[in-house]
Amino acid sequence: MERADFLVIGSGLAGLTFALEVAKHGRVIVLTKSHITDSNTNWAQGGIAAAVGESDSWTLHEQDTLTAGAGLCDPAAVQFLVKNAPEAIDWLTSLGARFDVTGSNELDLGREGGHSRHRIVHHADKTGWEVERTVSAAVRKNPNITVFENTFVTKLLVDNNRCLGVSAIVNDLGARNFFARATILATGGCGQIYSTTTNPKVATGDGFALAQDAGAELKNLEFQQFHPTTLVHPQLPGFLITEAMRGAGATLRNHRGRRFMYDHDSRLELAPRDIVARAIQKEIQRLSTWCVYLDATHIPAELLQREFPTIWEKLRTVRIEIEKDWIPISPAQHYACGGVTTDLDAKTNIPGLYASGEVTSTGVHGANRLASNSLLEAIVFSRSAALVAVDEADLPSGLPEAVHIPQSIPEAEAIRVRHAVQHLMSQHVGVFRTTKGLQIASEQIRETAEEVASMPRTSFSTYAQEAENIVNVSRLVADAAAARTENIGLHFNEDFA
Ligand SMILES: Cc1cc2nc3c(=O)[nH]c(=O)nc-3n(C[C@H](O)[C@H](O)[C@H](O)COP(=O)(O)OP(=O)(O)OC[C@H]3O[C@@H](n4cnc5c(N)ncnc54)[C@H](O)[C@@H]3O)c2cc1C
Repeated sequence: MERADFLVIGSGLAGLTFALEVAKHGRVIVLTKSHITDSNTNWAQGGIAAAVGESDSWTLHEQDTLTAGAGLCDPAAVQFLVKNAPEAIDWLTSLGARFDVTGSNELDLGREGGHSRHRIVHHADKTGWEVERTVSAAVRKNPNITVFENTFVTKLLVDNNRCLGVSAIVNDLGARNFFARATILATGGCGQIYSTTTNPKVATGDGFALAQDAGAELKNLEFQQFHPTTLVHPQLPGFLITEAMRGAGATLRNHRGRRFMYDHDSRLELAPRDIVARAIQKEIQRLSTWCVYLDATHIPAELLQREFPTIWEKLRTVRIEIEKDWIPISPAQHYACGGVTTDLDAKTNIPGLYASGEVTSTGVHGANRLASNSLLEAIVFSRSAALVAVDEADLPSGLPEAVHIPQSIPEAEAIRVRHAVQHLMSQHVGVFRTTKGLQIASEQIRETAEEVASMPRTSFSTYAQEAENIVNVSRLVADAAAARTENIGLHFNEDFA
């Protein structure tokens, strides 16, 4: 048994922000299922939204966020987010994060779709890498924080309606219980429930499954954001081409060279993500192709190389030279807008359990997330969680000693169900949905879940446990989508159009 004051599940920006803040008040344990930097955070490209420019204000940022959210945002949560944004940037900078600046040493602010001002604070096109580098280095240096890598959390321990901690499989040590007076779920997204996603392999939706199993409330899971411009290439599946490239002037063309966004929205390539993703998907269907193209060839090569060094280099590894070649792209799952319901203090409905980052539904995204608001959300809500979590009461005496030792379905079965469900999700719960398709997805995923429940069990396997989580979370998402009877934001049922 391990015991600390604060327990953090996940080592992305949400988890490590919380860890750094509460470490001023007690001992912290961070559990993470892979290497510390293995997270969605590490892959973020575009940046962090904050109204810090001269012609900007938090009210404009607020308005843009509410507009993107299509009427389903919680206005108080949005206001809390945008008002705290400049301070979140200062906090990261104070830890050593380096953001791009202009010649006069002002923050060099980028612009992305849905934003009425230049307000994206960034580090070239690898902002997430810089942010994760900063917070993980600070965590490593902090004597009050212990990080357990390769540690897979399998259960939230809830007793008498209070979260006491978690059970986990620690790679070298086996099953262990971890207890703390406050636990935060910061396990990120669930992109791996789809066949194509921009998310890394760790994003299997474990946190959504853990929360549901523990009785935490979840909401808005039908709102899955599909990034419009994801590379279509077998050697780099799901590699994201940041929206900032469209912000810098890149255009969308079909294979005949036509700029089809003229048919869809007056804001053209800088329309909100859901509109651009639907336009691309329609064009792909109309022409029976598998991709359309992002054309950056008219942008000076020197600017492309300076502003988008990651994309410039990565695409060269598959022989695409972005200053000369059109980039083949299509939409792919990118971000979960819904999740565990939390309040402004990141509290869930289970006392002692907090949640922050992509696993949550704080109310700031509503039916659609505004670009670059999620790294911001992770910092703002983890910092507010820390302010109240330090006052959590001590743990009761007589903590449960029995360790939950999970058993897994056979790996061969896990591979099969994982791919079957991912395929169903991509086919029926993607950018476009239909009533019939959602019914098929819901029913077949339910049948798969029942099949999984009756399978023989063997020793624990991370891969197989993730497959089970993928099945369970897919079911939640498909059911939520089937239950939504209007088209709003990211949810688009063609039968209601
Ligand atoms: C390619 C890409 C580009 C993006 N670009 C931007 C951008 O420019 N701006 C922006 O605001 N957002 C962007 N996003 C979204 C943003 O990166 C994420 O929403 C955000 O980083 C989520 O942070 P998090 O801390 O909640 O989760 P993550 O950073 O994903 O961290 C989750 C952590 O939980 C761990 N974990 C998961 N399950 C378990 C388990 N069972 N046991 C133990 N540990 C577990 C993971 O290993 C990981 O360490 C992008 C996302 C991607 C994928």
